[in-house]
Amino acid sequence: MRIAVITGISGQDGAYLAKLLLSKGYKVIGIVRNLNQRFVGLEYLGIEKDITLELCDLWEQASILRLLNKYKPDEIYNLAAQSSVGLSFEYPTETIKFNFTSVLNFLEVIRQHNPAIKFYQASSSEMYGKVVNLPIKVDSPMHPLSPYAISKASGFWTVINYREAFGLHCCTGILFNHESYLRSPNFFVKKVIGEAIKMTRQPDLMLKLGNLNVKRDFGYSPKYVEAMWLMLQRPKAKDFIICSGTSILLKDIVSYIFDKLGLAMNRVITGDELLRPTDIENIYGDKDDAINDLGWDYDLNFFQVLDILIEEEIENNPEGNAGTTR
Ligand code: NAP
Repeated sequence: MRIAVITGISGQDGAYLAKLLLSKGYKVIGIVRNLNQRFVGLEYLGIEKDITLELCDLWEQASILRLLNKYKPDEIYNLAAQSSVGLSFEYPTETIKFNFTSVLNFLEVIRQHNPAIKFYQASSSEMYGKVVNLPIKVDSPMHPLSPYAISKASGFWTVINYREAFGLHCCTGILFNHESYLRSPNFFVKKVIGEAIKMTRQPDLMLKLGNLNVKRDFGYSPKYVEAMWLMLQRPKAKDFIICSGTSILLKDIVSYIFDKLGLAMNRVITGDELLRPTDIENIYGDKDDAINDLGWDYDLNFFQVLDILIEEEIENNPEGNAGTTR
């Protein structure tokens, strides 16, 4: 039986990836910060009893070494991160330090103790930031525009360095925005859907949002985690862009959700405090390599994904309380 470690298993991608790996017959070890809590994402997917949850302090190489000695994993999927761009402006030190140190600690322990372990690192399209040419390819120039993006770029280059310097089977998936019912409610799409459902019952409620005139490439998390697994099955490690291949204006997402729920767009207001100090205007990626070389399949447009998300949110949170799942 193959053994996989997933960090960040309490998050959106961690839960969907765990479900995928279980379905493929893996024993899944999920790394958490606290065992005395509910793991609602795992519960929602009905897999909480099938996962071995384990404490591991990713700040400490000794803690990671204990984990590897105890479970002898074949594959490690490192998804744990302070993952919010907005919050990274409030907590830049924590974001940059943790998102970098945890990657370095894993690679160093793997290098010294078991170089056969395959390692996947969750990278982000945010690393490219101030975009010059679109679509983004792996080797497009990087110009991070937030502490989060800087942290992910440093993790990205650390993985490449350990692959080139020590021949480790380590790679990164550069994922563009992807959503699901398990998305944390502080993220844009989940927040808008949850609030909009609530607004259908409260006619005086307004929705305050930041800059809606930016475009992003959005996809569906349960499909994106398939690409993570495919990457670690390759005989030779390689980095891939995982994206839908087109971008969509945030305003159009709001207008689609509002239209579907019968709400008027004049109930949306802009909050200057929600604007970011620097923001990417438009970004989308090139998924050709992921389709042709990795063998990933993805053909959902984001309005199809929105239909799934709205339906699932209404089913689980008919009151529309932003559907707090974590
Ligand atoms: P998420 O839902 O925010 O989950 C983040 C996970 O990281 C949670 O399990 C969280 O644990 C854990 N974590 C955060 N800080 C930690 C710390 N200091 N020590 C240990 N664990 C910590 O993120 P996601 O959407 O699943 O994304 C997974 C990964 O992909 C992240 O690295 C993210 O940056 C990256 N990514 C995501 C997207 C996207 O659109 N979703 C796009 C590109 C890249 P707690 O529950 O204990 O807080």
